[in-house]
Amino acid sequence: MVIDCAEGVWLYDLEGNRYLDGVSSMWCNLLGHRQPQIDQAIRDQLDRVAHSTSLGMACTPAVVLAKRLADLAPGDLQHVFYASDGSSAVEVALKMAYQYWQQCENPQPVKTKYIALGQAYHGDTLGSASVGGIERFHALFKPLLFDVVRLPIPDSRANTLEHFLAELEEVLQNQHGKIAALVLEPLVQGAAGMVFHPAGYLRGVRELTRRYDVLLIADEIVTGFGRTGRMFACEQEDVTPDFLCLGKSITGGYLPLSATLTCPEIFSAFLGPPTNTFLHGHTYGGNPLAAAAALATLDVLQDQQILCQSEARIQQLAEILGRLQSHTHVAETRQWGMIAAVELTPGRDQENAYPEEIKIGSRVCKEMLRRGVWIRPLRDVLVIMPPLSISSDELELLGNVLLESIDLVCEEIASVVSSV
Ligand code: PLP
Repeated sequence: MVIDCAEGVWLYDLEGNRYLDGVSSMWCNLLGHRQPQIDQAIRDQLDRVAHSTSLGMACTPAVVLAKRLADLAPGDLQHVFYASDGSSAVEVALKMAYQYWQQCENPQPVKTKYIALGQAYHGDTLGSASVGGIERFHALFKPLLFDVVRLPIPDSRANTLEHFLAELEEVLQNQHGKIAALVLEPLVQGAAGMVFHPAGYLRGVRELTRRYDVLLIADEIVTGFGRTGRMFACEQEDVTPDFLCLGKSITGGYLPLSATLTCPEIFSAFLGPPTNTFLHGHTYGGNPLAAAAALATLDVLQDQQILCQSEARIQQLAEILGRLQSHTHVAETRQWGMIAAVELTPGRDQENAYPEEIKIGSRVCKEMLRRGVWIRPLRDVLVIMPPLSISSDELELLGNVLLESIDLVCEEIASVVSSV
């Protein structure tokens, strides 16, 4: 499919067919395509300067944006480091955590390891892939990746909060002297199949990492900027991490930009000897056009009270998922704000999955595409994450197409399987 143009939640291909963008162009478009204020902000910035370097100097929109992000972020995350993509934002946090322990007031040079969660996804660069835990993405590159302390995915369906926190505490008790940081996707692990952590997990992890002197990296590349119903997922459990990684929706999904935020204590470790700089940089980090798009995105989010307005859409999405709850081919529906998932199984039993070769998720998505709605599956999990600006009618259409397509494809497959 080749996209020629777009408007609002609609993508148009070269033949003029239109498709509802049901996963925000890979979880990043926040306020619709061709959003007038973002378009205008980029045009205005183009009349000033398209790019100037962040190495040794700065540009106005990047400076203003840093202040806006610091004001919005939880706690004392006042310092902002820019890169151009989510993987690099995580890479930056990993390296910053390492360098911090090398040169903080009481250096702990053996703190060089990371704790990461099973089925985590933090990007595709070698550092972010090392902390990632999805075999099929990164197994080929294993010889190039560094070892991490891997905990099982804290899937709220598999075990209790107490179990997962006890498991973490045991690891911290035994190894905290070697561990620089723990990295996680707060509340929901996206690429794992929208797997939700038990309520209280994030807060528990924060308490334990503080107690054992391990830094916490929150990867909010997906959850940031209102997707969970709050500006940042960390706010849902009143948590301030040591690093907050932002990307994707930061520019409304318009231009490549990411940011790693940290606190004064970590920042100040980079001010003196032995190395008074963070040894990392990207040519286009803090690009003025991207920063202008990000500022306009924040303006729209705040001026139009998008988070308040999205409450009605979140409710509507819950009603749509409710219609699927007793469906014979749906094991579970999950939702956090405007992030939703539908897990397909032959019966309602989660243990009994469709054989991989059936590609049930892809089949349903193809059927939906035929009916004018584009979403992408994570294997047998259908992900629904439209722009927050989606209207009630558009969301209703998405819901109807989803339900019809699941019915049709699952019935077709059931009849093929039973006739074999
Ligand atoms: N972190 C998370 C949680 C993600 O889901 C992704 C991408 O989907 C990334 C990091 C990597 O971001 P990017 O693709 O911009 O490098």
